[in-house]
Amino acid sequence: MYLAQKNIGIQKWVAGISVILLLAKTTAYFLTGSVSIMTDALESIVNVIAGFFGLYSLYLSAKPRDADHPYGHGKIEFVSAALEGGMIFIAGILILYEAVVNVAIRRNVTCGNTHQ
Ligand SMILES: [Zn+2]
Repeated sequence: MYLAQKNIGIQKWVAGISVILLLAKTTAYFLTGSVSIMTDALESIVNVIAGFFGLYSLYLSAKPRDADHPYGHGKIEFVSAALEGGMIFIAGILILYEAVVNVAIRRNVTCGNTHQ
């Protein structure tokens, strides 16, 4: 189980860094008001959720086989991957929608800087 523990250790770093990136992007959005930074921050929420679900799935997949799961628990990682893919897809649609609405409909373009 050495490799599984190593993977869990790496994923803890990945999940932790995703939180730091989300906080940094959220701060950058409040400082700039930039829509592109906001969508990037929203996409980071997906990374945080996926990071922690990935961590949980690694923890589950490291469990030894038992009566309920005679082939082990490794397949949970495919569930995690499918969840992450689904969230990225939905986030992509939302960001695309926001971008199209901003370009095509909203006329009041701001550069985001409040003191110009
Ligand atoms: Zn089980």
